[in-house]
Amino acid sequence: MPDEIDELRAKVEAAAAGIRSRQDLQKFKEEFLSRKKGKIPGLFKKIPALPPQERSSFGQRVNELRQLAERLFKEAEEGLKGSLWRQKLQESIPDPTLPGYLKPLGTVHPIPEISHRIEEIFLRMGYDIEDGPEVEKEYFNFDALNIPPHHPARQEQDTFFVGEGYLLRTHTSPVQIRAMRRRKPPIRIIVPGRVYRRDEADPTHTPMFYQIEGLVVDRGINFAHLKGTLETFLKALFGEDTRVRFRPSYFPFTEPSAEVDISCPVCGGKDPHCRVCGGAGWIEILGSGMVHPQVLRSGGIDPEEYSGFAFGLGVDRISMLKRGLADIRNHYWNRMDFLEQMK
Ligand SMILES: [Zn+2]
Repeated sequence: MPDEIDELRAKVEAAAAGIRSRQDLQKFKEEFLSRKKGKIPGLFKKIPALPPQERSSFGQRVNELRQLAERLFKEAEEGLKGSLWRQKLQESIPDPTLPGYLKPLGTVHPIPEISHRIEEIFLRMGYDIEDGPEVEKEYFNFDALNIPPHHPARQEQDTFFVGEGYLLRTHTSPVQIRAMRRRKPPIRIIVPGRVYRRDEADPTHTPMFYQIEGLVVDRGINFAHLKGTLETFLKALFGEDTRVRFRPSYFPFTEPSAEVDISCPVCGGKDPHCRVCGGAGWIEILGSGMVHPQVLRSGGIDPEEYSGFAFGLGVDRISMLKRGLADIRNHYWNRMDFLEQMK
């Protein structure tokens, strides 16, 4: 026949099984375990009133009940912590059916974008891309390219000199020498990269800008190859209708040398007030020429056996022309409103 300890045990078990919240947990503790009003401590208080022979076994059974209640309390508390944790986790898991946040997508900067376009054209013509140091030996930047010591470019005010015999390269041309020394003809390379000159920044100058250099060296290379290559390139870049003209010029590293103009891509020579060509109808776009024999020798190539042509152009200038920019510095201001428009 169950006595009050058995009855209380049944209540304790039922109550423990029903704990769902912190309040339930607190209620359980107060009802069964609290020293003052708890039902289990209450049973202990009855011991002195019992016949002496029953006290021991009664006390032992109440003690067991208390241990059971404490264990159930502990388990419910742990379980509650776990379910609270799961609940929190559930709340923090985003709903995968909601539409995502759109992150702004970056785009290629206008300078490398043009540079890559030019590289593509020459890669299709079988050229390789070459690279060289931006901190360059004075020898490679000037002497090896047949630029004499008295040349104005070698003055302090035009070039960033970096310690004894070194400078920030003023053009990508020193890579021609490095490439000729490393490769055997036939050589067909283009060299994109940064160059530096001590210019004050203004709408048409920045102290750092981008060039692309080209070099071809092989047996029997002549001016017709240069002309055909550059015409093909400029039509690919500016459109099939583009007309190309060569004007005699002078560079220390090429002989003969030519400036290359294209017909104005904006007005085609039809607008006497054209903002881009000023009504001339032509725009100077690059410098070129047959590689000077002295430069071939600097590259370890015999000018009696080989000849070559070279050309160089400013990427910033091409970008300005193609995009109708009036100020070269737009490329370097990191202004989002400008870059957004260049997409
Ligand atoms: Zn024009």
